[in-house]
Amino acid sequence: MTVTTRFAPSPTGYIHVGNLRTALFNHLIAKKAGGQFILRLDDTDPERSKQEYADAIQHDLEWLGLTWERLERQSDRLDRYAAAADELREKGRFYEAWETPTELDLKRKKQLNMGLPPVYDRAAVKLSDGERTALRAERGDGVWRFLLDQERIEWEDGILGPLSIDAGSVSDPVLIRADGQVLYTLASVVDDVDMGITHVVRGSDHVTNTATQIQIMAALGHGHPAFAHHSLLTGPQGEALSKRLGALSLRDLRAAGVEPMALLSLMARIGSSQPVVLASSIDELADGFDLSQFGSAPTKFDEDDLFPLTARVLHERPYEAMTEEIAALGVPEAIAPDFWEVARANITTKAELPDWWALFRDGGVALVEDEDREFVAEAFGLLPEPPYDGDTWSTWTNAVKEATGRKGKALFMPLRKAVTGRERGPEMADVMRLLQKKPTL
Ligand code: GLU
Repeated sequence: MTVTTRFAPSPTGYIHVGNLRTALFNHLIAKKAGGQFILRLDDTDPERSKQEYADAIQHDLEWLGLTWERLERQSDRLDRYAAAADELREKGRFYEAWETPTELDLKRKKQLNMGLPPVYDRAAVKLSDGERTALRAERGDGVWRFLLDQERIEWEDGILGPLSIDAGSVSDPVLIRADGQVLYTLASVVDDVDMGITHVVRGSDHVTNTATQIQIMAALGHGHPAFAHHSLLTGPQGEALSKRLGALSLRDLRAAGVEPMALLSLMARIGSSQPVVLASSIDELADGFDLSQFGSAPTKFDEDDLFPLTARVLHERPYEAMTEEIAALGVPEAIAPDFWEVARANITTKAELPDWWALFRDGGVALVEDEDREFVAEAFGLLPEPPYDGDTWSTWTNAVKEATGRKGKALFMPLRKAVTGRERGPEMADVMRLLQKKPTL
């Protein structure tokens, strides 16, 4: 059996780091096993699903290199869901119910007042044919609920270990709305069966869904895939991340200059007992991926961790991988490899490259303390016009030392600040070698 996994976002928004965890785990499981990874768009809600989001999700995954073997859309498969609904009806596992939300709410309140779990009371199952006809005439189509077998549903969860849920504590799930819209619970079951999904990894908010889906699969005559539920992400202090997830969308992280391998390396390891290691490829992440190393505790995510990793990705990146981007900055080909060599050691994200190039091209805006003004003016007088080379800095500073008597930090620091406009940066020998213009005050 080919290991087949899927990532099944609803195209109702941009995907964020929380979704990424699900996508990545499923991708890595398939990759490690030489299997198939399916991108499934759960777009049965025609009002909230947008093509713009479907496109953005694909773009985000492509940016990260999380490619898929197959793309499926639930909106193309409505006839399959209708057939499954018919089958459940024939098997006596599907019933129509007409309670309004207000009526259901009232029932729940009564149950809670009596200290009972707020589980749907199945009043609709007990209706006579006459009552059904009357309700349909009065209220139109009802919702369709799946009749759960009231037993314990058990499975071995790939992360949480042995799990069981008492179906008697769960309401019969609504699978089709009154307006005919098929809901995720049914659609997902039909897809997982039809597409031969062998492993489902998703967030622990889906544990109850898993219990009901196992029963629906069984009712349709099928076994179920292996399930694993990863913990949800929290902020660094353990605070809920749900409200901030919008700001942690992949597109925003990309815009902030986060590098794909930095993000993937972090997400593949946080929440597990394995340390975060910067990987150089998705294959490497897949080789080292082990679902059993993940724990059930909420996983702390700190976006600040992405930046040191991003810097490391860039520090290790060879010029050959940057040729086009550096040419696009306008760096002449002759010095482009040198420019990258120097710049990469001094940046956290690529967003800082244009500034470095501007500095080498035009010189920095001189930063000069009042007491250094004369000294710097004299020093600049001793600097010839470019082109400069690797010896320019030592030749120049020797000459300045001789002329002014300054040495050490008092000599070098004012010159660094005057040439680059900054207190820190690359070796000055490198700066001078790349400098295209004679600096001025
Ligand atoms: N569309 C569902 C979600 O985004 C998919 C859940 C699943 O993986 O089954 O929550």
